[in-house]
Amino acid sequence: MQKFKISTEVCFGKDSLSALETIKAENAVIFTDAFLKKSGTADKIAGYMKNCAHISIYSDIKPDPPVELIANALDFLLKANADVVVALGGGSSIDAAKSTVLIARKQTGKELPLIAVPTTSGTGSEVTSFAVITDKEAGVKYPLVSDDLLPVKAILAGKLVASVPPQITADTGFDVLTHALEAYISLQANDFSDALAEKSLEIAFEYLPEAYKHGDNELAREKMHTASCLAGMSFNAVSLGVNHGIAHSLGAHFHIPHGRANGMLLPYVMWYNAGLDGKVDERTAAKLAKIAKLVGLPAFNSKAGAQNLVNKLKQMQRELGIPLTLKDAGVDKQSYESVKAHIIKSALNDACTATNPRKLKAHDIDVILSNIAKF
Ligand code: NAD
Repeated sequence: MQKFKISTEVCFGKDSLSALETIKAENAVIFTDAFLKKSGTADKIAGYMKNCAHISIYSDIKPDPPVELIANALDFLLKANADVVVALGGGSSIDAAKSTVLIARKQTGKELPLIAVPTTSGTGSEVTSFAVITDKEAGVKYPLVSDDLLPVKAILAGKLVASVPPQITADTGFDVLTHALEAYISLQANDFSDALAEKSLEIAFEYLPEAYKHGDNELAREKMHTASCLAGMSFNAVSLGVNHGIAHSLGAHFHIPHGRANGMLLPYVMWYNAGLDGKVDERTAAKLAKIAKLVGLPAFNSKAGAQNLVNKLKQMQRELGIPLTLKDAGVDKQSYESVKAHIIKSALNDACTATNPRKLKAHDIDVILSNIAKF
């Protein structure tokens, strides 16, 4: 038996931030990063929280939140005696808040509801049971998985994303494409997850280039925020694949932003999964061909459709400035060679790889990596 559940309430539309007015608490804590504090966004969010007696802001969250940060954040949360937490920011802020709240609930016995307000359109973390924490020393990103990590409410406000610079828009946008495509071809994919992934892809292929070129285009930002959330709902139900398995390890070793690492690998992982290197995998190729058609590409048979989608992804990489090689992403050959075996091993052991449609051995990861390991 398979099950499908979306338990987070999603607030969206022009006045979505007014949902913050309904939060009632004695002590509320906003989790965010230094940029969103400095830019005044965190104070703006606090301004909406009229029914909270005291609001404190924790703004020390760093990209790819490391294990040590969680201890520090927990200390802040306990001292503030928080009874509600609002996570404001990209996946890093939301994941750090999710992990910290989970521990705080265990320590205090409080309900401690979590409300997520994403400010990037990428991770979908506002509706997922995942939180990714980085162990920099071990060079590993750990995805924590528990339904207890799910925010009770997600507030989508595209206007909060308007300040995201083009490169981060490209990185996070490719994260959306990767989530939706990996969920769509996941071994666990079903009609419910497919519906969410298809809509996400339809929107992202149409609006990502515009959001990248004209960040102040409100419609494009709103649409990409929706696409990100839909992709999050889809992969939350059926997990991901080897693209994420490799990207987690690349990100942990070389500090390549998560979405960028995903985006660099995406055409090659889809090419490999569809069997375009040799014997075509009919199921995956047919699904990719369906997406090709959906986004207006020719697909007179499965193989041609899948290949056209791969080509489109490569074209978008160039259009949106995604680095095409590890060298372009700032990695030198010696550093890569010294950890290559570890990257391959971590990718094979990563929880996301388990639902990849093509069964993989070390050699297969090596073949995928060889497309970007050019120095
Ligand atoms: P991020 O949260 O690390 O933010 C990237 C940068 O964008 C930061 O410097 C941040 O300050 C800046 N930023 C955020 N909002 C901004 C805004 N409105 N204007 C200007 N700058 C802004 O990036 P991300 O891609 O959103 O999150 C990546 C993290 O999420 C990684 O750790 C990744 O592993 C994790 N992740 C989690 C899930 C999940 O389901 N929990 C899924 C995918 C990825």
